[in-house]
Amino acid sequence: MVVRGAADREIAFFKRVRERKGVSEFLIVHGFSSYPKNRVLDNTVALVRRLLLTTTACILLAGPARAADWTSLRTEHLLLLGDASPRDIRDVALRFEQFRAAVSSAFPRLADDKPGPPVVVIVFRDQRAYEPYQPRFNGKPVKVGGYFLGSRDVNYITLTVGTGRDDFRAVYHEYTHLLLQRLSANLSPWFNEGLAEYFSTFEAAGNAAKFGIFIDGHLDLLSRGRMPVSELFAVTRDSKTYNEGDRRSVFYAQSWLLMHYAFGERGERWKQLVTLETLVENGAAPEAAFQQAFGVAPSVLDGELAQYAQRSLMRFYAVPLDQRVATRVQTQPVRVSEAEAQARLGDLLVHAGRTEEATLLLETSLKASPDLPLAHAALGLLLLRQKQSDEAMAHLERAVAASDTDEFVRFYYGVALMDRAAPSSGDADIAKAITALEQTVQLRPGFTDAQRLLGYAYLRSRQPGKARDALRQVLQQEPGDQNATLMLADALLQLGAFGEARTLLGPIVGRATDTTIKERARELLARSAGLEQQQQLRTEAAAERPVQQAETTPEQPVAPPVPPVARSQTFPPVLRELKTGETRTYGLFTEIECTRGQLLLHVRELGQTLLLRAARFDAIDFISYRSSTPANISCGARPTQEAVYVTWRADEATLPSGTSQGIAVAVELLPEGFVPSR
Ligand SMILES: [Zn+2]
Repeated sequence: MVVRGAADREIAFFKRVRERKGVSEFLIVHGFSSYPKNRVLDNTVALVRRLLLTTTACILLAGPARAADWTSLRTEHLLLLGDASPRDIRDVALRFEQFRAAVSSAFPRLADDKPGPPVVVIVFRDQRAYEPYQPRFNGKPVKVGGYFLGSRDVNYITLTVGTGRDDFRAVYHEYTHLLLQRLSANLSPWFNEGLAEYFSTFEAAGNAAKFGIFIDGHLDLLSRGRMPVSELFAVTRDSKTYNEGDRRSVFYAQSWLLMHYAFGERGERWKQLVTLETLVENGAAPEAAFQQAFGVAPSVLDGELAQYAQRSLMRFYAVPLDQRVATRVQTQPVRVSEAEAQARLGDLLVHAGRTEEATLLLETSLKASPDLPLAHAALGLLLLRQKQSDEAMAHLERAVAASDTDEFVRFYYGVALMDRAAPSSGDADIAKAITALEQTVQLRPGFTDAQRLLGYAYLRSRQPGKARDALRQVLQQEPGDQNATLMLADALLQLGAFGEARTLLGPIVGRATDTTIKERARELLARSAGLEQQQQLRTEAAAERPVQQAETTPEQPVAPPVPPVARSQTFPPVLRELKTGETRTYGLFTEIECTRGQLLLHVRELGQTLLLRAARFDAIDFISYRSSTPANISCGARPTQEAVYVTWRADEATLPSGTSQGIAVAVELLPEGFVPSR
């Protein structure tokens, strides 16, 4: 450890190191003796997260806070409301907007305003008002100053006016994750957590804000043992290290140190980390990606980090605060009715999984204000989660009917409709769902959950082109989404793009860990082979068609056409049983050649045409599994070349070669969309 004198420290503290995109870097001194160790800090985030996961329903709730004094304030990126004073609510708004502005000024890629779920901040006036909405552990409220509850449709931040620095760290940490989602939905844990910890130390005072202040708890923990970067980079979202045990804290601390070093200290290492992360996101193995990005052994980086952790000086960022942010949150908070406040709190509890309390609040809210869209939407979502689709639908319909409902309500309505649409029917529901989901993605482009469901709805309603477009958008946002990949492959198969479908399916069969997904990918691959064979057949048959037409003798009808028998329209068809000596062949039924005294059936196989004879029409068993009535069975070329299974027997009486390969027994016209198994 380098010990510096007081003069050094002064100089270091005020020396501006360099300018970068309007961000000034300063040096800060950290002497090990001058700062108290704080072991609580390093686990704040972990604790809050764990608490949220174990949150259980609890009926301790003393009834909704007195909502007479509720106000709300909408800023550029947030909706705030609460029973705190309007001034306090505005202060909190300013704090978050400043945090956001500061982080994105240091990290311009986070600045773009791609739409995402709304962030709702609830500001309680004191601990007493906050208590019913604090997280629960074993049924008891956990005293936190603030917490973050993230979900796909809305992100809640709740806090009290007096929230302390440590609680804000946890909230800023999570808010950083929210901003980082804009980079990618699949960031590696070390990258995501490292930056979240880095920015969590945000502090604003006067005209400037700071972040990247060192965290004692992390340094303290790391002084007792570090995590090699090779281990750090190998941690995935499912890793034990990331989810439990002592290594978890070390993982957070080490990720933070790495980011602190790279982002705050060595720009070239930062660039290499970004390259590494990009390579890994594109499927590279961490070790190979590290070699490619850094060109040195991981131990070199380990050495640098070990040295860095010993440093007595660490930089933090000082960002001039954008004064326009303050001007933008000057709008006056507006009054919120008691019913609205209850609906909002009810929605918060719905998202926290506290069903009974949420129901109580929402029903109370609806008693006072029977049309309140948010209350209907929240109750609808709650019922939907409990698999009560019909009850959910009633509320969601009422919510959707209100013109001011957001896209998430429409999304849930779409979910409920798709839930209700039975596997084989429910076309009306699917059509309604498509409308709701199309509105959803129009209101919020890039809403992947809605796009994915919309893709599925299009597939169900046989619109493969639209399904393909919707699912491609999903995969642009979330390249690792295997379900969307499978559905896209399905759509591509329906569109005849076999090669493209197989390119998608191959890696899933190879890599998927989920057996259902792997199995489905295998099925689709097999299906693609069958479909391709079918398509090839049609191409070959089409090429030969004019020649065949010339050879037909349509003027000699031998027997009246046999009306096709619709035995079954179910899928897959129950085929006629094969008898001894019979062969079944898949092909396209192209022609019935009628000559004197006999019929010659043309069935196109790959590479050849099977010619089968029969004495009369009624000697052949014609069976149709098609939903549409097939064209009459009569002499001549088939106007629609149906896919068939033709059953035939080898011919005992040898005929002149080239005329017939056997005797036709049955022709089964296969349903539209049927793919032969191979
Ligand atoms: Zn985190």
